[in-house]
Amino acid sequence: MEKRVLTVASPLCIIRMILVSSISRGMAAMNRTQTRSTRQRRAILEAIRSLHAHPTADEVFFEVRKRLPRISLGTVYRNLNVLVQQGTIAELSTVENVRRYDEDTVQHAHIACTECGRISDVIPPSTATEEIIRSAAQATGYRVEKCHVELTGLCPTCRNMQEQAQRGREEVS
Ligand SMILES: [Zn+2]
Ligand SMILES: [Zn+2]
Repeated sequence: MEKRVLTVASPLCIIRMILVSSISRGMAAMNRTQTRSTRQRRAILEAIRSLHAHPTADEVFFEVRKRLPRISLGTVYRNLNVLVQQGTIAELSTVENVRRYDEDTVQHAHIACTECGRISDVIPPSTATEEIIRSAAQATGYRVEKCHVELTGLCPTCRNMQEQAQRGREEVS
């Protein structure tokens, strides 16, 4: 009697064990994919934060590769888009039409260098944009929802270089 119970119970048990193990294998694979993309996204976010000055996708890629050497540019692009859609980072279109990324999603004004493409935040950021929004709303009657301020000029490095070159030319003549 006891033997019969055992022979009946065992195959069922095995089938269940196989089922359970294949489900958990599937879940483990899913978890692995999830952990990988979470890890990639976190590394990308940290790269943007460490690069400060509104990096391009290429700059983010080179920074992330220090930590994840096998990551592809396509993966970086894809994750940057996801982060922008999530509102975790902001995307800036710039003077040379190269997309740059900003970890600071609070509205603030930018200044871009027409020589090297570098972008800096304008300090104090809020008062300037708030003033524009306020006066624009007052003048037009619009409810202003978005304000994108971008100033252009020469960054201190490019300005120094240009001034030095100018001085050099003056000394020659
Ligand atoms: Zn510059
Ligand atoms: Zn910024």
